[in-house]
Amino acid sequence: MAEEQVIVGLEVHCQLDTKSKLFCGCSTDYRSDAPNTHVCPVCLGLPGAMPVLNKRSIEYAMRVAKALNCSVLPESEFSRKNYFYPDLDKAYQITQYDKPLAEGGYLEIEGDEGGEKRIRITRIHVEEDPGRLVHMGTTERGKYSLVDYNRAGIPLIEIVSEPDMRSPKEARKFLNKLRATLEYLSVFDSEKEGSLRVDANISIKGSERVEVKNISSYKGVEKALLFEITRQKSLLRRGQKVDRETRHYLEARGVTQSSRSKEQEHDYRYFPEPDLRPLHVQSWVDGIVLPELPDARRERFIAQYGCSLNHARTLTGELRLANFFEKVVGTDPRGLATLADTWIADTLIGELNYRNMSIDAVDAAGFTELLTLLKEGTITDKSGIEVLRVMLDQRLNNQPCEMPSAIVDRLNVRKGSFAVNAQSGAESHPDLDPIRTSIAEVLNEHPAAVEDVRKGKKGAFNFLIGQLMKKTRGCADPAELNRLLKEELTKKEV
Ligand SMILES: [Zn+2]
Repeated sequence: MAEEQVIVGLEVHCQLDTKSKLFCGCSTDYRSDAPNTHVCPVCLGLPGAMPVLNKRSIEYAMRVAKALNCSVLPESEFSRKNYFYPDLDKAYQITQYDKPLAEGGYLEIEGDEGGEKRIRITRIHVEEDPGRLVHMGTTERGKYSLVDYNRAGIPLIEIVSEPDMRSPKEARKFLNKLRATLEYLSVFDSEKEGSLRVDANISIKGSERVEVKNISSYKGVEKALLFEITRQKSLLRRGQKVDRETRHYLEARGVTQSSRSKEQEHDYRYFPEPDLRPLHVQSWVDGIVLPELPDARRERFIAQYGCSLNHARTLTGELRLANFFEKVVGTDPRGLATLADTWIADTLIGELNYRNMSIDAVDAAGFTELLTLLKEGTITDKSGIEVLRVMLDQRLNNQPCEMPSAIVDRLNVRKGSFAVNAQSGAESHPDLDPIRTSIAEVLNEHPAAVEDVRKGKKGAFNFLIGQLMKKTRGCADPAELNRLLKEELTKKEV
């Protein structure tokens, strides 16, 4: 049987990071405030209230359209999408329907088969966010739900892609690239809870497609898609067919579930919003100048700092990370860039992910000092990681943060503290010669292994080296350890 081809298209809703809502002056900074405190007659949809369009939100949406290579239409229009739901008290959502703001663009991602791959963008439209239901108890078994209209009227853009993605991994890459692009444009803050929500269309080639709604995290998208692919493939393998339907993603359980509501487009009775005039923004869009975007910055990192393609991709894949990198190498680009490239893209990101920490928590000056210590050979790579871990743990636990040089001294991992002066090696005082001291200790602690080495057992020698590495906390050069251990063993035999 031929490989079943997976087809994925995404509809991404992003909150635009404006100060006020889309059609009224209410503040969008609602997350830490009490429910229903950021509301007015307009966003509550009280009778007679008139919407006034927030100019900034349209400018933000046009920036996105331009960055995603879309054409902004000469005329676009707001429509009412009619449906009843408790989080939408005016019983219609103001959105765009047959005349969206922009159409026909693309975003480049790193495709599964390597190289750049274009994911086509069908359209971008502007709409208002509905309110939010807070279920008391679980969604299935809650006793009652509360409604909070603070979110009602927050400006959203919906970005609809063509079904050009062929795996959950490509879908994740698309989302990551989109998030980075929006952040570079300063129109979106991915750190804000619920600022991005995704609906995914997914099918196996030749079968019906399923829409999975309501995915509210980046990781959730990949998980929901993986679940759906497995479900659909197993139906097909058993000779059953996949129904065309809408399913909901249940984040906590990692599964999708058929939803009973089956609205069709015509159920929404779309019609033009009578209280808002059509938008004519052509001359305005021409004047919008875009900042440096992720692809351009990636190429610059390769050219200017000599980053590898993979590292440049990682570093520029997040605005905060790219800024951090440039801050760190800023003082000494030639000297630090090569180190910073690997230490940030590989080591630091790994340590941050492990601790679920953001790059914002890392002190750039401290990190620069750490790289300088590594560059000057004051500490080994292995001690560098140890020092970095202490730095991050101090920050994570809200402890006073030491600079790397202070940590190096406290841990006593300065390379010199284990280094041996070859000329004075034999005469040096044992206390001043920590490697020899460590060797002496190890030999005393493991007489049986020493005996085995004499009998010619290679494993025993390696065991002793292992013990020594532990004792010197990996700060000594392994080749040097080897040489000195052999030397000490020979001395003992005499
Ligand atoms: Zn309002």
